Amino acid sequence: MSVDVEKLWELQSVLSQLADREKAMSVKPEAFAEVDREFQSVNDEMLRLNQSLETLGKEHRRVEGELSDSQELLKKYQGTLMQVKNQQQYAAAWKEIEVARKHVKELEESALKTMSEIEGIQKQLDDRQSSYDGLKARHDEAHAAWQASLGDLRGEAEALRKKAGELEAALPEQERREFQRAFKQRGGIAVSRVTNDSCSTCRTRIRPALSQRLRRGELVTCEGCHRILYLEKTQA
Ligand SMILES: [Zn+2]
Repeated sequence: MSVDVEKLWELQSVLSQLADREKAMSVKPEAFAEVDREFQSVNDEMLRLNQSLETLGKEHRRVEGELSDSQELLKKYQGTLMQVKNQQQYAAAWKEIEVARKHVKELEESALKTMSEIEGIQKQLDDRQSSYDGLKARHDEAHAAWQASLGDLRGEAEALRKKAGELEAALPEQERREFQRAFKQRGGIAVSRVTNDSCSTCRTRIRPALSQRLRRGELVTCEGCHRILYLEKTQA
């Protein structure tokens, strides 16, 4: 079967130009990278503080709930104290009251402690929030300036993407599959040029039998790197 490896080579070259543009577009200029790092670190810090706030808030509500139950219980014991009939019942009721009072006191202390922790974290959050808006504005501005500077690259990438799509759509099914397989498995280089009877990517020598098939225009892959081999017309 004769194939037009020329088309695969062209597709390969368009895709590698596209990869260059995409790489260039992904590199953050230092002016943006600097404010971006600061912004990300403030965001991470605020996220961490908010998470602590949430955990402490839950803990505080739990303690408050338990405190309110214990206060009810204490009241109930204090009520029974009024109804005791003898010294023995009085001693027993008194003992329950003592235990309940101690528990209430512990819970009150615990609630105070979480409340003061919550206030501390809230203060840290407020401090950061006051500078956050200014930092975000600087971040967004630097980001917009960077994106605006990419105008040309973006247009070129768009054109290359379109061209690659057209070339790929025009390929016969088997060649497209073979190309895509090699492209995916071989680090974005599916087609390798043949120079001096060797694969120019991995330097494996092309055996004469394969060389003959190449010259006949068959789809031949390199025995070393499994890329599709491309022999320029002038050498064929
Ligand atoms: Zn090779």
